[in-house]
Amino acid sequence: MQYPYADIIIDISHGAVDRPFQYKIPEDLQDKLFVGQAVQVPFGNGNKTRLGYIIGFSETPQIEPSRIKEILSVPEKEAAVEGHLIQLAYWMKEHYGSTMINAMKTVIPAHKKSKQLEHRSVKRLVSAEDAARYAGAFAGKHQVARARVMEALSEEEVIPYEILLHKLNISAPTVKSLEQQGFIKLSSEKYYRNPLSFQDLEAKNLSLSDEQRAIVEGIRADREKGERHTYLIYGITGSGKTEVYISLIRDVVAQGGQAIVLIPEIALTYQTVMRFYRHFGDRVSVMNSTLSDGEKYDQCERAKKGEIDVIIGPRSALFTPFPNLQLIVIDEEHENSYKSENVPRYHARETAEKLGEITGASLVLGSATPSLESYYRAQEGKYVLYTLNRRLTGGSLPQVHTVDLRTELKEGNRTIFSRKLQELMEDRLEKQEQVMLFLNRRGLAGFVSCRNCGLVVKCPHCDVALTQHRGGRMVCHYCGYEMPEYKNCPQCGSPYIKGWKAGTQQIEDAVVKMFPKARVLRMDADTTTTKDSYEKILTSFANQEADVLVGTQMIVKGHDFPNVTLVGILAADLSLFANDYRCGERTFQLLTQAAGRAGRGTKPGDVVIQTYQPDHYSITYAAKQDYVGFYEEEISYRKLLSYPPASHMLAVIVTSDREEEAKTMVSSLARIAKEEGARLEEEGKKSSPFSSPERMTGYRNRMIVIGPGKASVSRIKDIYRYVFYVKHPAEDALIRVKDLCESAEKNIPVSRCQVYFDFDPMYGY
Ligand code: ADP
Ligand code: ZN
Ligand code: ZN
Repeated sequence: MQYPYADIIIDISHGAVDRPFQYKIPEDLQDKLFVGQAVQVPFGNGNKTRLGYIIGFSETPQIEPSRIKEILSVPEKEAAVEGHLIQLAYWMKEHYGSTMINAMKTVIPAHKKSKQLEHRSVKRLVSAEDAARYAGAFAGKHQVARARVMEALSEEEVIPYEILLHKLNISAPTVKSLEQQGFIKLSSEKYYRNPLSFQDLEAKNLSLSDEQRAIVEGIRADREKGERHTYLIYGITGSGKTEVYISLIRDVVAQGGQAIVLIPEIALTYQTVMRFYRHFGDRVSVMNSTLSDGEKYDQCERAKKGEIDVIIGPRSALFTPFPNLQLIVIDEEHENSYKSENVPRYHARETAEKLGEITGASLVLGSATPSLESYYRAQEGKYVLYTLNRRLTGGSLPQVHTVDLRTELKEGNRTIFSRKLQELMEDRLEKQEQVMLFLNRRGLAGFVSCRNCGLVVKCPHCDVALTQHRGGRMVCHYCGYEMPEYKNCPQCGSPYIKGWKAGTQQIEDAVVKMFPKARVLRMDADTTTTKDSYEKILTSFANQEADVLVGTQMIVKGHDFPNVTLVGILAADLSLFANDYRCGERTFQLLTQAAGRAGRGTKPGDVVIQTYQPDHYSITYAAKQDYVGFYEEEISYRKLLSYPPASHMLAVIVTSDREEEAKTMVSSLARIAKEEGARLEEEGKKSSPFSSPERMTGYRNRMIVIGPGKASVSRIKDIYRYVFYVKHPAEDALIRVKDLCESAEKNIPVSRCQVYFDFDPMYGY
């Protein structure tokens, strides 16, 4: 279709993306323009020629047509980087539901002037041995920050100032005083090193294990053939994935390309950053939430100018404007933090695939517990699967004890620690080894279970746990089903049937009460409100300033703690009966990762998994550290119930400060979805029953609409929340439902509703 007008955003590098302007498309450019393309246009009163980007096309003029200016030309050398990102933003808008402006703001950094980031570095003026000795001396005097600086400098002669500041949490005055004492020198000299002498590269590859080399060479061969793929590297922690990423990046950089490495913020520790720094010197840059907007902008400018080759950071680092992006790595690809919680609700994995398509970059995913999505796609042949089977760090796998909490209660133990866990904790505290206690908070939404027989009260329609609500009711957050609370367990009659309430604070108190001498640290949302608090707590625990670390899933990532020889998982079921279809997967991942924290050093480790359901497959496979076994079982369940990745799912969320309006809106939209489902089915019937293989799967090909019902948090600050879910194997069918809802929304006679879309949601609403 030919459109007479193009919507154009002018001069995005100055951040003026607030609104597009309409321009006429001249005859000779018809059919030659696409979203993301750079064009030259007259702008402003003086009609100065400016660079703009096309973000969409339109049919109706917004102002008097004669006053609409015409596009001048397409620049010969277009600024490809912005074009790529705008194309990506357009795809995100279409795919996830958002305005173009919101999508643009997500991919293009706000233009903020910053004090020019100084790329200073800190150099030690003493020998490595002396630095290590001073580190010990400072630690002895409890001067922890100084000790950290000297320890880091005992390993590396020169360290970038920004890494000290942002990753070691060292304050500027500490650096200054160490400088005055003559230990270090702060300089603005370049610490650039050439990471890529050819021999060096060869030498590095020789030291890779056979398994690692097969991956690096396989991917290199594909690149040489000009093929781009998505690769999934499945390998347990310590199997050498990061080393593989580094080799791949060296290849890419040697050919003048750039690479983006995504790592969940929580795992982006000093150790990881230093590993990349050792290889790429100041050609690598780190992005994290401690950077200001100005610093981020500055970083993007450096990337555009070709001053850096590698960026490491969380989700948003994906949008680094590299001129010749060749590789994207997503480590710990199963992490939920890769999905944005803001509109557009994009997933970094899918968005990276799209970016790879646009730019030609390969995508490498790595995980010890791959997401069902990725492993499924690998099984279907859409991703290339590589497996790393051996742990290169040595150390034996920990011994796992699964404790049945029902038995503990029967035998009179009412504390939150099983007898096995108590006994092992005592032993470790005695030996001055460290303990991690892990509570799965995400599932604490208050599911109801029987402490005697383990029964979990589920919705009769949805196979998810009911959630305890005030006023003695239990509610299903998928379909809205409600019933009164049980006084006694319907299965065994026990009165111990309740919602789960214990939190990390209670666990900390219980540890202190039982082991008064133990030094306890706690890490959860309450203790990590400031930006650096994660790192501070973890560093303090790594320095053995505490014996026990109590925490939520935050503690299962990041640092290596060689002195941790016991991990206790207090109630493995907590995440199991959260109210969504991913809870089995999440439980397996968390348990596997938590278990993997024990016995990382030379000392053997133990893991105690406390649970009411010792026979649940998520728990038994995690105890055996058997990913593939878990995958097989989980995927068959997803297939049976048409959940992602076997099918696709769209959540439509409606919020309003007027409950009646939210209800009207949500039921109108759900009706539209149902009508579209019926239409698709009619269409399917008309075509020959054997025309497509999908058709032959019959029932599974139907659009399923669940709900509408109240969201699990049904009101936040007096805003009511309603939701319904739509399932269909073809993503396009759901995108169409989203489009239909988006256009119908305007015609529904309510004034104060917001509608959001979430594709393949990570959590139930
Ligand atoms: P992962 O990213 O899978 O956790 P890493 O790449 O961090 O694994 O490797 C784990 C440890 O093994 C690191 O200390 C790393 O230096 C070391 N390592 C990795 N590859 C090799 C190798 N080919 N030879 C010797 N040591 C290796
Ligand atoms: Zn019971
Ligand atoms: Zn239900």
